[in-house]
Amino acid sequence: MSKKSISKHGRKEHKMENDMKQIGDLLGTIEEFVPGKGTYTEDGKIYASIMGKGVVDRENHAVRVEGRMPAELEVGQVVFGDVLKLNKNVVSVIVKRIQGAEGNVDIRTGIYVSNIADEYVEKPESMFGLGDIVKAKVIKIQPGMIDISTKGDFGVVKAFCRYCRHRMEKSAEKNMMVCSNCERKDTRKFSKDYGNVENI
Ligand SMILES: [Zn+2]
Repeated sequence: MSKKSISKHGRKEHKMENDMKQIGDLLGTIEEFVPGKGTYTEDGKIYASIMGKGVVDRENHAVRVEGRMPAELEVGQVVFGDVLKLNKNVVSVIVKRIQGAEGNVDIRTGIYVSNIADEYVEKPESMFGLGDIVKAKVIKIQPGMIDISTKGDFGVVKAFCRYCRHRMEKSAEKNMMVCSNCERKDTRKFSKDYGNVENI
């Protein structure tokens, strides 16, 4: 890294250290920084995954967000969350609840296309819809990314119609759902518990 770019970052750092970050605020790029606690990465950019103070570790060229880490996720936990975004290779899910734990959380996680189902899935949008509620398992935690999986019995526990937003119901066909209102069909990777999970 050139001296010029370090001093440029220096100015940014100072500004960032006094800045309160909201979830989703851009902190920098992976070329500039190593993503630390309280961040997530997407398409080479680093964002705040929690609300708090943006801090740059100059020595290690790392960036993190210091705030209340609600409840840190652990590998093996079963979680419930909302589908926020469908990208080409990953489904972004905001985890809202941890099975067996009290209270709600707000933790950004992702399901890689290879972690959606036991069989090959070509496109995440064929198996999830925006706003669907997902039950998944935490499989890997690293700075900047928490991977969850919906392989096996996991998957969508509540799906909403893309057209009219009404609740979808399971059909007899594998991965096939029907809207309870407009009767349009759609596909989902649904959980074994679909329709039986309350209070989420
Ligand atoms: Zn519908």
